[in-house]
Amino acid sequence: MKRIGIDLGGTKTEIILTQENVLNVIKRKRVATNRDKGYAWIVELVANLINGYKPLIDEEYVIGMAIPGSIAPQTGLVQSANTTVLIGHPLKQDLEALVDHEVLLENDANCFALSEAILGAGQGKEMVLGIIMGTGMGGGIVHKGRIWRGIHNNAGEWGHTCLDFEGPECWCGQKGCMELYLSGIGVQRIYQEYTGKRKSLQEIYRNYEAGKDQHAQKTITDFVHYFGRCMANLINIFDPNILVIGGGVSNLPILYKAGQESTNRQLFNTKLPVPIVKNKLGDSSGIYGAAILAG
Ligand SMILES: [Zn+2]
Repeated sequence: MKRIGIDLGGTKTEIILTQENVLNVIKRKRVATNRDKGYAWIVELVANLINGYKPLIDEEYVIGMAIPGSIAPQTGLVQSANTTVLIGHPLKQDLEALVDHEVLLENDANCFALSEAILGAGQGKEMVLGIIMGTGMGGGIVHKGRIWRGIHNNAGEWGHTCLDFEGPECWCGQKGCMELYLSGIGVQRIYQEYTGKRKSLQEIYRNYEAGKDQHAQKTITDFVHYFGRCMANLINIFDPNILVIGGGVSNLPILYKAGQESTNRQLFNTKLPVPIVKNKLGDSSGIYGAAILAG
């Protein structure tokens, strides 16, 4: 059996065609999403990508797609999408009508957690939390190789749980969300509060490592403390085997040493630390997860 995996992102959309083992990629293509052109444009874009791969397949195949949102189980419509043009639309039905084939849709952070649990850093573990710290913050829960979606397909949205109820306002309408402290933009925001200046995450981290910028020191020290608090909260709630980190912030080595120690110190049961590790599948985690959605 062949597999098609799609990662529908706000900026880029990627499609892969793979063998039954999704790590054996036959073909890969990446295009701009151009979300400003609207919902119908996006549906057609994805349908054209899928239909373009069909002549390459002469056997049974499955299609899975990672989306930046989720499907409301009661209505089948897209909800909670940061690519807001998708919200309220029957994306699955519209796409299936154009490609004449079943398409499984899944939240992109859930796809990340699934691929890391089955093929990546959480392989062989019963309970895996996948935590994406990129532009925003999200996550997925995989228990015994299956995504745990919650009742409304909204599980894993800890990026918008509160770390400081007197903190800054979040785009989601709440205050002091985890995302405001642990995403790439969050680290930049902390630095900006100290200095009034905006610097890239990489620059702040380089300055921190060089030890010449006291504000970068403070920013990263705060960040490590917040990271530990948030990870300790997740561990206290879920009691997982492992936490796998993805997204651009996962490239900071400090997460796996000082971040791990900060987490261990803030646990309810400090005698039971849980390993925090970097993802293994890199930027392709989401799309591999999409490709393995169909069992
Ligand atoms: Zn929020």
